[in-house]
Amino acid sequence: MARLPGSWENIQGLPATAYICGFCGLNVSSERGWQVNHNPVFNRIRICPDCNRPSFFEAGDKQIPGVAYGRPVPNVPADLATLYDEARKSTAAGAHTAAVLACRKILMHIAVDHGAKPGMSFIEYVEHLVNNGFVPPKGKAGLTTSGRKETKRTTKSS
Ligand SMILES: [Zn+2]
Repeated sequence: MARLPGSWENIQGLPATAYICGFCGLNVSSERGWQVNHNPVFNRIRICPDCNRPSFFEAGDKQIPGVAYGRPVPNVPADLATLYDEARKSTAAGAHTAAVLACRKILMHIAVDHGAKPGMSFIEYVEHLVNNGFVPPKGKAGLTTSGRKETKRTTKSS
């Protein structure tokens, strides 16, 4: 990620704290930012020393933006990379159902790329991937059970 140009005004010194930046994904230590003292809790905004972007820490632990699950995967087709990035960003925002749905869509794209017909159901795409050797022998359960649980919860609440 390119460094945000410029410098922050009236920035303060803070006790150094290590964290993973929700913008650039690097493990950094920041001692620059601002704080609100609401004794005994400090709410702080820290500036990432690498990408120069601010992260908000409420009560010392809740971080906004959050840290995306996983890591970028190189050499992935652009449409899948976009979906994967969307799923990762959803985890960072606490939108785990959206992350599951994005990952299911990734599986559907992969199945179609490997010969499945468009318009099939999700379970048919999983069966296609399993039957054609794209899923390890014990991997099918993980593809279907957690996704179904998330979908049922989503369906009931909407
Ligand atoms: Zn950063």
